[in-house]
Amino acid sequence: MKDALHNIEPGPSASHYDLAIVGAGIVGLATAREFLLRQPALHVIVLEKEAAIASQQSGHNSGVIHSGIYYAPGSLKARACVEGQQAMLAFCREQGIPFELCGKVIVALDESELPRLEDLYQRGIKNSVQGLEFIGPERLRELEPYAAGIKAIHSPNTGIIDYVQVAQAYAREVREHGGEIVTGCEVTALTTRDAQTVLGIRQTGVVTLETEIHARYVITCGGLQSDKLSRMSGKECCPGLRSRGLRALADKPRRPVGGIELRRLLENGRSILAGGAGRDVPRLHQGGICQRSAALPT
Ligand SMILES: Cc1cc2nc3c(=O)[nH]c(=O)nc-3n(C[C@H](O)[C@H](O)[C@H](O)COP(=O)(O)OP(=O)(O)OC[C@H]3O[C@@H](n4cnc5c(N)ncnc54)[C@H](O)[C@@H]3O)c2cc1C
Repeated sequence: MKDALHNIEPGPSASHYDLAIVGAGIVGLATAREFLLRQPALHVIVLEKEAAIASQQSGHNSGVIHSGIYYAPGSLKARACVEGQQAMLAFCREQGIPFELCGKVIVALDESELPRLEDLYQRGIKNSVQGLEFIGPERLRELEPYAAGIKAIHSPNTGIIDYVQVAQAYAREVREHGGEIVTGCEVTALTTRDAQTVLGIRQTGVVTLETEIHARYVITCGGLQSDKLSRMSGKECCPGLRSRGLRALADKPRRPVGGIELRRLLENGRSILAGGAGRDVPRLHQGGICQRSAALPT
């Protein structure tokens, strides 16, 4: 009982805010941080329904720092990925967050996969991804002895990182700049009253508390529950969100767009993560689908 009381997250310290952000994943926290850096006088609160920040996608993803190969040239995603990589690396260096630019190989197993490999390479070049090169089986074996294929793209600037540490650093900065982060606090309603948004909230702890706060502006960063939040505010959500992660099954029903992803863990360098495949889901209540595999042989 003592421990439970100890763990109670304090509720909102006021009932009126300039900005309320729903969701303390990496997007919600980065958004809160950016607003506070630009406008330190803002009264900002981040509301998270889970007991801890980064409990959903941001804490269960593949931990890859993408270089920008996959996205359509000229698209916002492509630009954000290439520029975002540099910004992420600069932030990590500044904060002392470990990362490793270990590189990545995208492998064609047989002739039928060569046109898609060529297409990816061209996308990468158009997106100004640095250092991309085609490699043959020998160089592939040198770089990654456990991969076998007829041709591959080597992306030397793709990296690995623990995004939970990034989220924790964002949260630290939000609090240092006067922002509040309340976990165990689900937003259950969004309505407008007197030119303000009223957020119905349910806070869970030893007792469940239902109350409301007011905000001049609300930004929802609800990840896989974005559609629910969108409907709460009276809007319909785009159907594209009904896919786990940002990938979707396309031409080959049995093979995800991004292929089967395997990556080394940063913590010990010997275990691997497998997964990250996009998959349509009927309901949007779960986070990532990566699973830890057994350690690689030394
Ligand atoms: C399997 C998988 C692998 C991936 N791999 C990579 C990768 O290697 N590299 C990469 O860059 N990206 C990767 N991604 C994408 C990346 O993880 C996401 O783009 C990113 O985490 C999204 O962050 P977010 O804050 O939008 O969502 P989330 O991290 O899901 O955060 C949303 C938060 O909103 C909260 N929330 C929702 N509704 C409410 C409510 N009503 N009230 C209060 N809180 C609420 C949730 O509890 C959650 O904490 C991957 C995604 C998946 C699914």
